[in-house]
Amino acid sequence: MTRYPVDRRDRESLRALQAERLRETVEHAYENVEFYRAALDDAGVSPSEISSVDDVRRLPMTTKEDFRDEYPDGLFAVSDDEIRRIHASSGTTGKPKIVGYTDDDLSNWSEVVARSLAASGVEAGDTVQNAYGYGLFTGGLGLHYGIEELDATVIPIGGGQTQRQIEMLQDLDSDVLSCTPSYALYVAETAEEMGIDPAELALSTVIFGAEPCTEPMRAEIEERLDVTGIDIYGLSEVIGPGVSNECHEAQDGLHIWEDHFLPEVVDPATGDPLPEGEEGELVLTSLTKEAVPVLRYRTGDLTTLNYERCDCGRTMVRMDNVTGRTDDLLIVRGVNLYPSEIESVVLELDEVAPYYRIDLDREDELDRMTLSVELDDGFDGSRRDVRESLRTRLENVLSFTPDELTLAEPGTLARTEVGKVQRVFDNR
Ligand SMILES: [Zn+2]
Repeated sequence: MTRYPVDRRDRESLRALQAERLRETVEHAYENVEFYRAALDDAGVSPSEISSVDDVRRLPMTTKEDFRDEYPDGLFAVSDDEIRRIHASSGTTGKPKIVGYTDDDLSNWSEVVARSLAASGVEAGDTVQNAYGYGLFTGGLGLHYGIEELDATVIPIGGGQTQRQIEMLQDLDSDVLSCTPSYALYVAETAEEMGIDPAELALSTVIFGAEPCTEPMRAEIEERLDVTGIDIYGLSEVIGPGVSNECHEAQDGLHIWEDHFLPEVVDPATGDPLPEGEEGELVLTSLTKEAVPVLRYRTGDLTTLNYERCDCGRTMVRMDNVTGRTDDLLIVRGVNLYPSEIESVVLELDEVAPYYRIDLDREDELDRMTLSVELDDGFDGSRRDVRESLRTRLENVLSFTPDELTLAEPGTLARTEVGKVQRVFDNR
């Protein structure tokens, strides 16, 4: 009997638990973090007034800039000797965001990751090859302890060393691979180069996260590796991976572990809460965190919430697979574009491999976009036709065409072995 069965608790008792934990979290933040005390005083909210889940809307919001301003540990709510571990998430600019964990935070984290793995279809005794980066990044160690918590076997190989990665997959019959979606494809490609059919590996599941993954990208991973592709979601500021996870039964949205994280979706421009089903920015409030409680953290991730009962029986809310971030938005000659929208169009074309890059420049005060896509291995058709159908599709779906469309030879666009893939190069 698994320790992580499908959670079917009724929503009323869940709401009551959330309300109680919300109040404790606000009290804890108010009493121990100067930043939150000032923000709550400014908003005129006293922790004792928090009595229901809806009261979350009265709380001030927290942003990534607040983490930077309070660097390194201004948002910590416990004394240094209670901190058992530190992680950091690097931004592209400035200081990293530092987060800390108490003993209880670490065990809650392992629990939500174990729950995520169970929802992915991983069972005790399975072997999970963990190809997330170890170190300050929360992916590696976050997955690691959740795998052990589930009584599965972890292979802590980390990112990179792809040939050895594949030998391990083969020799140790790993059931599950956890990594970024772009790395899953790179593993498939490298295996083929080594003369190994990736679909013949024992692998049955790939759990991917840390990067957005569009549906065509998921389909590509599932087909090439002959696996079920499952999306895991999380961010260091809230805990790390394991905030939410798809269930393998339905593969239709990621269940948010609501007894630990309270979600809202708001209008990114105004911060106003949106009705269920409308797309907006995900905002998360931690309900059990001790070291770094977060009140209404603006994740920057765009999603929708779905409270309908899932086919798997889990009662916890589902969020849509995140494929866009508020700060990913590219404004090119006044047109709003998300890289994921371009990806979806590009990957629908069989003649094209799942590798592309977007370069943005400014010439004579005008934006200029170059889209480079890689031809599929073995392509022998007309390049002009591929270019033409890409242009037509982009125009039809996005009302946009790049200034330059480059077709690259198979295997020539950069692959990412370690860390997150970069596909957009904005030089404006
Ligand atoms: Zn489900």
